[in-house]
Amino acid sequence: VVAARTGRAGGRHMPVKRPPHTQPLLQPLGLFMLEPSFCQPTRISRSVARFGALALAAILAACGGSDDDGSANAGATATLAVLETTDLHFNVRSYDYFKLAEDKSYGFERTATLVRAARKEFANTLLVDNGDTIQGTALADYEATISPIPCTQQLSMYKAMGALGFDAGTLGNHEFNYGLPFLNQVLGGGLDVEGVDATKKCAGAGYPMALANVYSSKTKKPLVQPYTILERTLTAKGADGKEVKLPIKVGVIGFTTPGIMNWDKRYLEGKVYTEGAVEAATKYVPELRAKGADVVVALLHGGLDSAAYSPTMENPGLHLSKVAGIDAMVMGHQHSVFPDAAATPAYRQTGVDNKAGTINGVPAVMASSWGKSLGVIQLALQWDGSKWVVNKTASKSELRNTQSKNAAGATVYVEPDAAVAQLIETQHQAAIQYVKTPIGSTDFRMSTLFADVGDPGAIQIVNQAQQAYVAAYIKASLPQYAALPVLSVSAPFKSGFQGGADYTDVAVGPLAINNAADLYLYPNTVYAVKVNGGDIKNWLEAAAKRFNQIDPAKTTEQSLISTFPGYNFDMFTTADVQYEIDVTQPVGSRIKSLTYLGKPMDVAQEFVIATNNYRATSGKSFIDKLDGSGTIWASPDANRDVVIDYIRKNPTVTRATNGAAKSWRFAKATTAGPVVFSSGANALSVAQAAGLTNVSLLAADDGLGKGTSKYGIDLSK
Ligand code: MN
Ligand code: MG
Repeated sequence: VVAARTGRAGGRHMPVKRPPHTQPLLQPLGLFMLEPSFCQPTRISRSVARFGALALAAILAACGGSDDDGSANAGATATLAVLETTDLHFNVRSYDYFKLAEDKSYGFERTATLVRAARKEFANTLLVDNGDTIQGTALADYEATISPIPCTQQLSMYKAMGALGFDAGTLGNHEFNYGLPFLNQVLGGGLDVEGVDATKKCAGAGYPMALANVYSSKTKKPLVQPYTILERTLTAKGADGKEVKLPIKVGVIGFTTPGIMNWDKRYLEGKVYTEGAVEAATKYVPELRAKGADVVVALLHGGLDSAAYSPTMENPGLHLSKVAGIDAMVMGHQHSVFPDAAATPAYRQTGVDNKAGTINGVPAVMASSWGKSLGVIQLALQWDGSKWVVNKTASKSELRNTQSKNAAGATVYVEPDAAVAQLIETQHQAAIQYVKTPIGSTDFRMSTLFADVGDPGAIQIVNQAQQAYVAAYIKASLPQYAALPVLSVSAPFKSGFQGGADYTDVAVGPLAINNAADLYLYPNTVYAVKVNGGDIKNWLEAAAKRFNQIDPAKTTEQSLISTFPGYNFDMFTTADVQYEIDVTQPVGSRIKSLTYLGKPMDVAQEFVIATNNYRATSGKSFIDKLDGSGTIWASPDANRDVVIDYIRKNPTVTRATNGAAKSWRFAKATTAGPVVFSSGANALSVAQAAGLTNVSLLAADDGLGKGTSKYGIDLSK
């Protein structure tokens, strides 16, 4: 961060090398290096022996530049730039392990470049990570479960972060996904909790974690230290305009989502318990102040929600910001951005100031996810003669993105930091081999080539996986909804928009993990919404916008598919729900003969529908309840991971079990002229294998220049 810690004297960041087996729970070296007693010859020489000559200049600068009582420098000012990464989710590389291809839109290797630039720009920086760090890519799964990383080695994510040198961090909900023994190992040891060997010493994260609202049931103490105090030296501007070095104590306190108790119940029940962020802050922030923290930075693995406060609320940022003594708030978990008034959706709750970058006056930031942004809070500090005081109104926050548009409107990306990729190359390659490993097999070609005309072959397994996942969760954790039927909808995400190759198309044979990306294109998460039969009808009516209105009397050719995106064509794929889509009718009057378990669906009957975060929160154009208000559970898990998990548990995928349940068909209509649509080239056999006998191939080349053929559909059959 500052002189002593990083050797910034030469203008470059020089991470301090820590001895192996450093416990993350210990105070960082910086603390001891700046104790007043440190600036004595014997301690200096001992430290030089430990850290090498490179640190010498910095150590001497810190000692020589510090003012013993500081009072002479009253009125000095400094800017401390708090740099945030959050929800990295083990995306070290700009690489999609499902598609087995580079994706420049994310990756810590690019955020790293932004960090280095910020360190050049600001004399005083503090780099913090806000959690959801160790889970989220195939590489994460590989190091946690497939070929577990040995105790002596750092997780690749932490190793990569070590190239930049983080000052502190907190734990997200996903840190608990692999259980407490694994967490203990990757943090280096010290978790005194049932089922864990707290004395085990491992490589660790490489920076101290702070987490104030998760307690060990065994010790009744915080599982991880609730806060850490980082002692640093700031390069400041004296009242006389000259540069001056002054010491600072930065208190860093962390909070995570109480939802971990539900999401990782099997690992955590009876072993840990949580407290609300506000309660934990009310307890520990005064303690931090009493220990001399000049500045308190709250790392909240959570975001903003305008609901009234409760100790189990997932996103308590609006409430936490009001706890006295918090100078800056680093947020995450929602994978959103703050400040950004132009974002969709942007935070607009009372107390939120997107322009100043403050929440109830507290400078705050939320840096997206996967390394797409670096959060920067510039804390304006004033030395009162004995301590630093934050000038909140002169402070500001901003996001720096790895992706932007240039003057010509083209997307440009920050270049990756070469050192980062190199550090994890061996493990990266091993993960690539892992995702190619079969987890099951399919006896049919799972494709969306004819999903628009009734083949559920690539959608049913997604619905089966989502349904099973939500039903199991409700049974375990939401007993108030246990009596409601759980159904699932999904859509053909790849439906030819980009051309003839833009379809889900998984070949007969082995199913590997990376095939799940083809079955579920987007990194969405599973959401469950409560709706009634009337809502379902309206939802399906909206989804049926996928079709143009067909005039049966027209003798000329009519195109079946509208411009309404395929990914919005939500459908059920279960014998339990049956309906017809009458494309001869206008939008809003197309769903006919809707039944549930063989009887007309009762408009008042309540159902839980498994879907995704996008539909559940921004699907108001489908039905009002899809504005987020109908959500009964926002799961932390990706739909894709849920599909993978389902295939692992049900590895023999067959047409009969996983690809033949048609919930809908077109209402029969005799048309005077042909009704046509485009799909992948020469794929009629796929339609036939799905039992769609009313489809015919009209032209191998439909003339659109996108590698598609023209097909006809006989709606009278
Ligand atoms: Mn996350
Ligand atoms: Mg999270």
